[in-house]
Amino acid sequence: MRDIRHFVNGSAFEGASGRFGEVFNPNTGEVQARVQLAMAGELDLAVQAALKAFPAWSATNPQRRARVMFEFKRLVEANMQDLAEMLSAEHGKVIADSKGDIQRGLEVIEFACGIPHALKGEYTEGAGPGIDVYSMRQPLGVVAGITPFNFPAMIPMWMFGVAIAVGNTFILKPSEKDPTVPVRLAELMMEAGAPEGVLNVVHGDKTAVDAILQHPDIKAVSFVGSSDIAHYVYSQGTLHNKRVQAMGGAKNHGIVMPDADLDQVVKDLSGAAFGSAGERCMALPVVVPVGKAVADELRERMVAEIDTLKVGLSNDADAQYGPVVSAAHRQKIADYIQIGKDEGAELVVDGRDFSLQGYEKGFFIGPSFFDGVKPGMKTYQEEIFGPVLQMVRADSFEEAVELPSKHQYGNGVAIFTRNGRTAREFASRVQVGMVGINVPIPVPVAYHTFGGWKRSAFGDTNQHGMEGVKFWTKVKTITARWPEGEIGDSSFVIPTMK
Ligand code: NAD
Repeated sequence: MRDIRHFVNGSAFEGASGRFGEVFNPNTGEVQARVQLAMAGELDLAVQAALKAFPAWSATNPQRRARVMFEFKRLVEANMQDLAEMLSAEHGKVIADSKGDIQRGLEVIEFACGIPHALKGEYTEGAGPGIDVYSMRQPLGVVAGITPFNFPAMIPMWMFGVAIAVGNTFILKPSEKDPTVPVRLAELMMEAGAPEGVLNVVHGDKTAVDAILQHPDIKAVSFVGSSDIAHYVYSQGTLHNKRVQAMGGAKNHGIVMPDADLDQVVKDLSGAAFGSAGERCMALPVVVPVGKAVADELRERMVAEIDTLKVGLSNDADAQYGPVVSAAHRQKIADYIQIGKDEGAELVVDGRDFSLQGYEKGFFIGPSFFDGVKPGMKTYQEEIFGPVLQMVRADSFEEAVELPSKHQYGNGVAIFTRNGRTAREFASRVQVGMVGINVPIPVPVAYHTFGGWKRSAFGDTNQHGMEGVKFWTKVKTITARWPEGEIGDSSFVIPTMK
């Protein structure tokens, strides 16, 4: 069986923990590899490698660091097909979607190629007599990223793309469910010219995460995953004096106003609710039609649309989505569907019985659709993270603004309307971090920033864009005076600008 090893100081690294996790092929349900799971000792070796690499890398001028990013981008593009196949074979998302995962990460690398510009500080000439003030952004040192299974290429690149470009050295702890692509990315980063120790990959579970959170030489931690663990990482990391940003779960709503273009809405909802088997933090698992007429029509059209969806092998070019990541996750989704029924929602389409001929042990689940979902229900309050669309009917625009605003999660939301004023008011009032106007999955482009509100994110800086640059650097502000002539008297009063 294939062993997936850590990647430390520029090469594969055999851990000594003796602990392994199983990596499944979600299409067949079989174990296809085992991944080493680190203990504190292995993590420490990676930190030592990153510490050793930091002085030279942080002193490398930003343009040279950017050149490594340019070359990394070229290499990832040249390896796109292989990477997408690797990703798809462990995650279960279809190949086209796997390429999208890699491409969205590459867009952050493109942003990182412009890092010299982003690192230019601020300067005030003549802040006082003969006094100039300027600021600079300096890297933090050794930093870490802990990533979820659902975007094994994009989310690592969100983090290390910016963190390394600004001069840090990095420890990536990817999801143990699909760890192959992150290691391949680290290999390509070395091939692109990053010195050994600049990007290290340490596999593991809670033990490795705790080791990261407690390690005194790790200065900052970026986390993306489910909310309870995000909160744990945020509180433990800050307790250990680290800078922490921790993105959590989601329950994104799609508001459908009576004037929306329903042909478009049905297509958009179908892709956003069922694409990647619903395993996206920016999926749209809740649809909120405003008024009975639009709700009834949408329901009818959605049922017809769902009937056309093809669930298939992750390498089937005709499939809209493939299996979910694990048997346990499949079971969790099926359990939520049962709970939804039991709590009184109407299960209009039930995907639980779906199975793919010849692949009965694969982690497949068909699309499901609920009507009559109410805000008090557990299945509405919690994240299902599967191909399940829930319809919550609203009577008015006010009610539609309130639903996502009062929800515990506040990652993304979309409104479908032809009325600019309605859209504008919605965007301004809704209590959610990322808003789409006739855009079902409003993941911001790389030079803007990504981040939710409420229990969808802990900490105060977003991923990538200038927020990413801020997170991965510290500011130093210099006040400079070049006196000439007589030496002034001592002053025992705080200097002020007169
Ligand atoms: P997860 O929380 O189970 O795992 C995330 C990371 O935490 C992994 O690296 C994992 O090894 C580690 N981990 C697991 N259990 C841990 C524990 N008890 N203590 C410490 N660390 C632990 O999440 P997942 O299932 O891999 O990913 C899906 C979740 O991620 C969903 O909730 C989804 O909404 C969320 N997500 C959020 C965003 C966002 O930007 N807000 C993006 C993608 C995914």
